[in-house]
Amino acid sequence: MKTRVFSGMQPSGNLHIGNYLGALKNWVRIQHDYECIFCIVDLHAVTVFQEPAALRAKIEEVAALYLAAGIDPKVCSIMVQSAVHAHAELAWMLTCVTPVGWLERMTQYKAKSANQESVGDGLLQYPVLMAADIMLYQAGIVPVGEDQSQHMELTRDIAQRFNSLYGDTFVVPGTALPAVGARIMGLDDPTQKMSKSAGGAHHAVALLDPPDKIRKTIMRATTDSNPYVDFDTAGPGVRNLLAIYQAFAEESDQAIQSHFQGMRYGDLKKEVAEMVIAHLEPFQQRYRQITGEPGYLAGVLREGAARVSPIADETVRLVKERMGLHV
Ligand code: ATP
Ligand code: MG
Repeated sequence: MKTRVFSGMQPSGNLHIGNYLGALKNWVRIQHDYECIFCIVDLHAVTVFQEPAALRAKIEEVAALYLAAGIDPKVCSIMVQSAVHAHAELAWMLTCVTPVGWLERMTQYKAKSANQESVGDGLLQYPVLMAADIMLYQAGIVPVGEDQSQHMELTRDIAQRFNSLYGDTFVVPGTALPAVGARIMGLDDPTQKMSKSAGGAHHAVALLDPPDKIRKTIMRATTDSNPYVDFDTAGPGVRNLLAIYQAFAEESDQAIQSHFQGMRYGDLKKEVAEMVIAHLEPFQQRYRQITGEPGYLAGVLREGAARVSPIADETVRLVKERMGLHV
């Protein structure tokens, strides 16, 4: 039996090149090697307020972006988290074995709850729901960006804790990070990771941005006071641009060094912009095709949920049995 893979994205804000290079691109690469489930994690998105109509539209948009990136719904299951009720059910059971202290230590919780007058409990519980998403399918591999490493550690801790309390029940999953592009930084501020939820007109390149907008955002990217690329002294902004180029181009460190060493920042940015555009243009064409086909997306999502539901139901049944709950 093939190892199972699970991963997902929140349908909040516009998917960007960080989401693509950190996660989605990897999903496409490994989809034939494993039994893959790719989820649109809408229950995670509502940990911060989402306008309902916008959320509904975003769920479809994210699903279409998975397909446009090259995820094949014939070999992978693409599904919406809230369509499979067992995610929320298992999350409760796992909540009951998770110490609050583990959750309060999470970097994302601290970042997203900072400067908020009132913090929703969902923001604290987020990693437990993520653990449930993964453990529900007994996934062995979770391909994510580097920012999710801490949540993956926690998922392993929760799985191990459950297994030691109630007997071997869950696969303890591993994290798969890409070699290049695991942490793409904000173009306006290379000390912060690129995020859907971050503000700033020139923060990110969204996967559906038109070419002129992509050029503008990249040409304005924050660099440093050097005039040209020097691999020994390059700051985080320049390193980020080089990482974006390298991840799209799939070139070796040596090839990147010899190509860019000594290049003026203006020329570096032009090359990065054209590389990104060359990859996103065909992607956007596929997106328009997919969204132009009435009923297609809905069918893919229905089929995905139907395919994974029996796996989810079986895990919940097993967990109930182990915990002594009514089966
Ligand atoms: P939000 O601000 O709403 O949390 P996000 O950009 O962090 O948005 P998520 O939906 O939380 O996006 O994450 C989806 C996937 O993209 C995860 O696997 C995550 O690790 C990855 N990812 C997110 N940001 C980056 C980034 N800057 N570089 C590489 N991977 C990233
Ligand atoms: Mg995030």
